[in-house]
Amino acid sequence: MKFVLASHNAHKVAEFDQILASALTGVSVTGYDGPEPVESGRTFVENAFIKARAAAEHTGLAALADDSGLCVDVLSGMPGIFSSRWSGEGATDQRNVALVLAQLSDVPDEHRSAQFRCVIAVVIPATSDTPGREFSVEGVWAGRISRSPLGSSGFGYDPVFIPEGYEVSAAELEPATKNALSHRARAIAELARVLGAA
Ligand code: IMP
Repeated sequence: MKFVLASHNAHKVAEFDQILASALTGVSVTGYDGPEPVESGRTFVENAFIKARAAAEHTGLAALADDSGLCVDVLSGMPGIFSSRWSGEGATDQRNVALVLAQLSDVPDEHRSAQFRCVIAVVIPATSDTPGREFSVEGVWAGRISRSPLGSSGFGYDPVFIPEGYEVSAAELEPATKNALSHRARAIAELARVLGAA
């Protein structure tokens, strides 16, 4: 089965293709350079379906889309779907990280729990003999927010995210280690499990 991934990010496409193709024979993932819809949903699930439906409609092919972000418990799950633009207009990774650290400045270590979450929406269009199908899966990577940025690899909130079971940040992990543990890897593995069971 062939999927298009509603993403212009070649690294993401390669990650999805590698994990799914190694888990399932006959499954492959290619990129998609069609129009990007406005992500007007209120949840990761809504935004992932907006992107996957747009890609399926544009190509007529089975489509995947992911939506992810950092959810901090004492911030009631925020930045959440606003992760990439948390510090407002002109947001950068550095400013987003600085804002989260400032918002947690008085929060003691035991209350700094957070998760990276990734939802993947799957939209399989109907054919003349099979009905269409839509479902989503989620991957969660639990951890806590550090008191200052640590490490220089990765992107986004990696420098302030200490994964559960580790004393270093996600930006201090080897990229291969992060890619094996991450919310995205967990969501893709869950997708492989669901597709394999179908
Ligand atoms: P996207 O849905 O993959 O585009 O991610 C949205 C935003 O969530 C990114 O711009 C980052 O701020 C944050 N984010 C998602 N995944 C990660 C990650 O693995 N590390 C750090 N930040 C992430």
